[in-house]
Amino acid sequence: MADFANKGRDRSRDRELGMQRNITRRDFLNGMAVGVGGALASPWLGGLLAAQGSITSAQDRPGYYPPTLNGMRGSHPGAFEVAHALRDGTFWEEAGRPVHTGEEYDLVVVGGGISGLAAAYFYRKQAGPSARILILDNHDDFGGHAKRNEFHLAGRMLLTNGGTVSIESPFPYSREARGLLAELGIDPPALQKKYANAHVYSGLGFAYFFDKETFGNERLVTNAPGGGRQATSGKWPDFLARTPLSAKAQEDIIRIQEGKVDYMEGVSQEQKKARLSKMSYKDFLLNVVKAHADVIPFYQSRTHGLYGIGIDAVPALDCWAIHFPGFQGMGLDRVPSKGLSFTALGEVTPQEEFHFHFPDGNASIARMLVRSLVPGSTSGNTAEDIVTAKMDYGRLDHRDSPIRIRLNSTAVLARHIGDSASAKQVEVVYGRDQKAYSVHAKAAVLACWNMVIPYLCPDLPAEQKEALHYGVKVPLVYSVVGLRNWTAFHKLGVRGVSCPGMYHTSMNLDQAVNIGDYKSSESPEEPILLHMLRTPCQPGLSAREQQRAGHYELLATPFETFERNIREQFVRVLGGGGFDPARDIEAITVNRWPHGYAYEYNPLWDPDWPEGKRPCDIARRSFGRITIANSDAAAAAYTDQAIDQGYRAVQELFSS
Ligand SMILES: Cc1cc2nc3c(=O)[nH]c(=O)nc-3n(C[C@H](O)[C@H](O)[C@H](O)COP(=O)(O)OP(=O)(O)OC[C@H]3O[C@@H](n4cnc5c(N)ncnc54)[C@H](O)[C@@H]3O)c2cc1C
Repeated sequence: MADFANKGRDRSRDRELGMQRNITRRDFLNGMAVGVGGALASPWLGGLLAAQGSITSAQDRPGYYPPTLNGMRGSHPGAFEVAHALRDGTFWEEAGRPVHTGEEYDLVVVGGGISGLAAAYFYRKQAGPSARILILDNHDDFGGHAKRNEFHLAGRMLLTNGGTVSIESPFPYSREARGLLAELGIDPPALQKKYANAHVYSGLGFAYFFDKETFGNERLVTNAPGGGRQATSGKWPDFLARTPLSAKAQEDIIRIQEGKVDYMEGVSQEQKKARLSKMSYKDFLLNVVKAHADVIPFYQSRTHGLYGIGIDAVPALDCWAIHFPGFQGMGLDRVPSKGLSFTALGEVTPQEEFHFHFPDGNASIARMLVRSLVPGSTSGNTAEDIVTAKMDYGRLDHRDSPIRIRLNSTAVLARHIGDSASAKQVEVVYGRDQKAYSVHAKAAVLACWNMVIPYLCPDLPAEQKEALHYGVKVPLVYSVVGLRNWTAFHKLGVRGVSCPGMYHTSMNLDQAVNIGDYKSSESPEEPILLHMLRTPCQPGLSAREQQRAGHYELLATPFETFERNIREQFVRVLGGGGFDPARDIEAITVNRWPHGYAYEYNPLWDPDWPEGKRPCDIARRSFGRITIANSDAAAAAYTDQAIDQGYRAVQELFSS
């Protein structure tokens, strides 16, 4: 595959690409991993505040509005340094003894993602409206992965999701999760019916871009055939004939896509499924279908969006379940069976399906939760009016509010005051602006990431700590590019391009949804947002090793490298439609998620544990007055799972 790490350093075409252009990019830090001291260099996190000795926190300053920030977002500079210092054992010597703020809460929630916000919501519902709750989050915005990206281009607001895309799940939402959405005013099927607006792109299809480094020749091939949500009209022989793929690769792809061969003739259903669950899709294509190795680069990145890794690391059985080709003749029944990951099991389980995308993704759910938890934080009361409502960040951590959300605050310790079996209080310490602060509460819900918890709670049993460390969250990047217009897409007849060999492996025009006062881009002359996906995976390693390597790669890659690769990709893919990156790119936001999806188990990499013995079952055990929420606790990267875990963690507190 192409050496894009080096490509990122080639500055010879910078002027042509528009690297010198002053696009909206307020984040001047390049995102390299920096120590705790580095956090203060961040213009956002309060170098200024520290210098002024001000006690006002960043989130209370006028004009604080993180959704509109561009540049390196997601795990932005300033968000992760404290946690990394804690992991590396340097936090305490740098921060000194914690200062007790004097605050006493009923509950402290660590993590302001959907799970933590939902936990606060369920706790208040049970304890009553006067319950005092503090929510801590290390980011400069709430929502966790459910983040809002808000652009203002040519005088109009354009929204998109910086992380969590849609309300959907492999399984139906539980009574509690659906009930929570209903109480907030979200009815996903009704919203889907009323607001789906995909017709904006009618007439535009999907394309593949074959880069010369991977495929020998460079070409954009439009009118690609496809399945599932990307179905377009093209026929495989016609499409492949226009690609630079070898004749043998073309022949084999047609065989994979359209053939009806039983490659395991005479083998029982059960045996077939068992075998397919223990081999990767890549191995299935090479060793069972006996396809030529040239077909692999064409399919390699197809699993990136859903799994964050390539087909070398995803079981063939999962790929069958999610409708990948090659299995048409194998007579496999679409019924739930062993050997499927959580995501794939949902695909073969008959059920009512629903799917809804707010213009800013599930950030709208987070915003509606905050609206309910902190009255006065924003206006309105419907799923429609939340979309354009402005959030008053100055209200989030206000002393008059029983529920407070404290941003830029990384929890570093959660322990019982006294013996864990009988203690009535916990102490939670957090790092903020290079200092450590402590608060007391009757209980704590840790709705943060599993791998942080052993550092936060050194008193946990060894077996639980080991289980908390088991999964490695899946890294991925959603880069969002604000464009002056989309005439190049229109001219080429495409709305999305799969780029299997490129730095970002897909680029798609934003999902169009008109809701409330919000209007998506409707004509090619109007500005629009474009989504690009990068997963920093390293084929050849195990899933967990790929995830670890990807995490380090993301933290070591400066924004400039992302920007240069984005501009280069635009000119190569869309240049034929007249796209000029120096003229047409207005803004870039790189939503970097080194700790993205919760780790899901699958038989290629994980044992088949007995019921109740999976690492996540052990990891989420309650510990005195401290309970554990978040989607890692379910080993399933979905919003409903995050809500369900928040609910369970709160119930454990009330039943203990
Ligand atoms: C790019 C991306 C796309 C996704 N798309 C979808 C989708 O379309 N649909 C879907 O259902 N799910 C999707 N997901 C899965 C998503 O993770 C879940 O839906 C859900 O939002 C997870 O919520 P959570 O609260 O469990 O975790 P998070 O959202 O990760 O929130 C946990 C929060 O705790 C914070 N935290 C961690 N440690 C500390 C600490 N020590 N102190 C303070 N705070 C801390 C974290 O920084 C984070 O802000 C997506 C995830 C990603 C990364």
